[in-house]
Amino acid sequence: MLSKEEIVKSVPQKGFLGHPKGLFSLFFTEFWERFSYYGMRAILIFYMYYAIKDGGLGLDRSQANIIMSIYGSLIYMSGIIGGWIADRILGTQKAVFYGGVMIMLGHIALSLPGGVMALYASMALIIIGTGLLKPNVSAVVGDLYSDNDPRRDSGFSIFYMGINMGAFVSPLLVGWTQEAWGFHAGFAVAAIGMFIGLVVFVVTKKNLGLAGSQPTNPLLPEEKKKTIFVFTAASIAIAVAGLITYTTGHLTIENFSLLITTLGILIPTVFITYMYRSPKTNADEKSRLLAYIPLFICAVMFWAIAEQSATVLATFVDTRTNLTVGNFEIPASWFQSFNPLFIITLAPLFAILWTKLGDRGPSTPKKFAFSLFFAGASFFVMVLPASADMNTLVSPFWVAFSIFLVVLGELLLSPVGLSATTKLAPAAFAGQTMALWFLASAAASAINAQLVRIYEVVSQTVYFGVLGGLSIVLGVVLLMISPMISRAMRGIK
Ligand code: GLU
Ligand code: ASP
Repeated sequence: MLSKEEIVKSVPQKGFLGHPKGLFSLFFTEFWERFSYYGMRAILIFYMYYAIKDGGLGLDRSQANIIMSIYGSLIYMSGIIGGWIADRILGTQKAVFYGGVMIMLGHIALSLPGGVMALYASMALIIIGTGLLKPNVSAVVGDLYSDNDPRRDSGFSIFYMGINMGAFVSPLLVGWTQEAWGFHAGFAVAAIGMFIGLVVFVVTKKNLGLAGSQPTNPLLPEEKKKTIFVFTAASIAIAVAGLITYTTGHLTIENFSLLITTLGILIPTVFITYMYRSPKTNADEKSRLLAYIPLFICAVMFWAIAEQSATVLATFVDTRTNLTVGNFEIPASWFQSFNPLFIITLAPLFAILWTKLGDRGPSTPKKFAFSLFFAGASFFVMVLPASADMNTLVSPFWVAFSIFLVVLGELLLSPVGLSATTKLAPAAFAGQTMALWFLASAAASAINAQLVRIYEVVSQTVYFGVLGGLSIVLGVVLLMISPMISRAMRGIK
C-alpha cells in the first residue's frame, strides 16, 4: 500500500493557481460533472410534468416532485457504495472514470425519445455513476496535499468554486437549448458536458500522480468471495422484491418514497451507531461523534429546505410567477442558476470575513445555527407570495430573494460541515467521511419525498410558514446547546 508521503511526492506540487497541478484536473472534471447534473436537474422536473403535447411526459405534478426528491436522495446515498468500491476495489481514479461514463450514458438516455422507461434507466445510471464519481473526486482533492499543507483548505474552496461555476452556467445553457429545441436537446447538452469532463480527466490524469491510483484498503482474497456473494444476494433480493411488489400492484411511487424516506433516516443512524460502537473508536472520538449528531440533524434540516429550490420553488416559479419581461419569457429553469451565482459572488466575502474575525469568528455549531435562521427566513419570505390569489401571477423576485437567503445559510454550513465531518469522524473511518457528509443531503431529500406530498394538500402559506418556523426553532435549540457541543468536540474547532 502507498504511504501518504509517497503519494504527495508523486503529485506535481505547483501549476494551478499556486496549487498542485492535479487540482486543475479535478476542478474541471467536477465542473463538467456538476454542469451535467445541475443542467439536467433544472429541466427534469418540467420534463416530467409538462403535457405530452409540450414535449413532456405528462406525469402528475405531485408525482414529479416526489420522483425528484427520491432521485436527489439516491444520488447522495449511493456515495456510500461508490466510496466503498474506490476504497476496496478500484481506487478513486478508476471510480471517477467509470462513474463519469455511467453519468454520460444516463444523460444520453434522456436525450433520446424513450419516455418513462428511458427516464428510469437514466436515473439508475446517474445514481450509480454519481455515487462512484462525486465522493471520490472530492476525496482526491485531499490526497494532493500533505496533511499539514496550509494550502489544503483553500484548495477545497477553489474546488467548491468549480462546482458552483458548473452549476451556474448549465441551467442557462441547458434551459436555453430546451426552450429552443426541446427537452431531448437540453439533455444532450448535459451529456456533452459530461463527455468534456471525461476527456479533461483522461487527458490530464497524469497530474494526479499516484493519488487515487490504488484502492487504499484492498479486499483480501478471502473477502472477495464473501463480497461477491453479498452483492449477488442483495441484487437478487431487490429484483425479487421489485417483481413481487410490481405484480401485486404495490410498487407505486408513493410506496417507494416511503421506503427511501425510511432508508434515508436509517442508514446514517446505523452508520453513526456502528462507528460509535466500533472497538477502533477511542473515548475522545466517541465524544466527538456525539457532538456530531446534532450538527448532522441540523444539516439535514438545512438541506431539506435548500434542496426544495429544485422542486417546490421550481414548480412555484413555473406555475405562479410572471416570467414575461417585455416580449421575453424568462425560462423557469434559469432560476436554478441563482444559487450558484450567489455562492460564487458571496463566498469570497465570507472568506474575508472569517480571516478578519480570526479567533473571534463563530464556532462551528453557531455557524450551523445561523444557517438554519437563514433557511427559515428563506421560507418565511415565500409566505407572502404564496398567499396571493391563485389566479394572479406574482413577481419571481420573491423566489430569487428566498434563494439569496438560503445561500447565506449554505455558505455558513456547506464548507464548514464538510471540514467538521473530516475532523469529527473517528480516524478508522476516514475513508468514509465524504460519504457520511453526503448522507445528510440524502436524508434531507428522503424527507422531502414526504414533504412534497404534504405541499400538495395543505395551503402553501402554511407549508412555507411551518417549515420555516421549524428551521428557526431547531436553530435556536442548537444555539442554546452550542457550548455543550463545542466542549464535546474535545479540542476540535
Ligand atoms: N451543491 C454542492 C455540490 O453539488 C453540495 C451538495 C450537497 O452537499 O448537498 O457539491
Ligand atoms: N450550491 C450548490 C453546490 O454547492 C449548487 C446548486 O445548488 O446549484 O454545489
